Amino acid sequence: CGIVGYVGEQQARDVVIEGLRRLEYRGYDSAGIALVTDGTIASDKRAGKLANLEKAIEESPLPPSTTGIGHTRWATHGAPNDVNAHPHLGATGRVAVVHNGIIENFARLRDELERAGHDLKSETDTEVTAHLIELEVVAGADLTAAMQAVCRRLEGAFTLVAVDAEDPTRVVAARRNSPLVVGIGEGENFIGSDVAAFIEHTREALELGQDQVVTITRAGVEVSDFDGNPAEGRRYHVDWDLAS
Ligand code: GLU
Repeated sequence: CGIVGYVGEQQARDVVIEGLRRLEYRGYDSAGIALVTDGTIASDKRAGKLANLEKAIEESPLPPSTTGIGHTRWATHGAPNDVNAHPHLGATGRVAVVHNGIIENFARLRDELERAGHDLKSETDTEVTAHLIELEVVAGADLTAAMQAVCRRLEGAFTLVAVDAEDPTRVVAARRNSPLVVGIGEGENFIGSDVAAFIEHTREALELGQDQVVTITRAGVEVSDFDGNPAEGRRYHVDWDLAS
């Protein structure tokens, strides 16, 4: 339902949690976060209010990190519980994914993964994407190419955001019939399901077109289509005021 991504110099945990709070107005049933740190993904996710997640990471703190993603879920496939909450991880825990929308062909992809020996833990349509993207990066693709390859196989409406434990420099997102906006900062960049996710950090935004993938690093933003061809989003300045 709500999505946040961050790469920069600030603590990603704080930027992500703040962003999720700004997206609370959309309604949700669970919340979660994943951070890239020292070659691993540190993640926590909880059913219920964002406060439940905040309490969990207060009791059992996540390591410092400047690259992270977060999600508030409005369940469509699978009960609203801790296991079904996002982020979802690939088979080895190297890739973490959050998702808004519905992957229509997830059952077929799930069968394919299970036949190949994958153990999927949740009832969601989302988890297959984490396994598939992870297979691509393990085979040598960078996270951007992995996202493009997997999106070519997906049907439905989705905003996907992924991180790779072995590449803390980037957060990669994709969009088909589901909203995705990039916030352009200096030495930091943001992903949001809407501008509320990052409005307190920057008002420079880039709206992605349909079937596009965006890679954010500290230094910049790169957009492509699902085939890897360069593409462009629509740049704009957010000039409305956000009630706090
Ligand atoms: N279909 C996914 C799920 O049920 C994502 C729902 C959402 O957009 O929050 O977990």
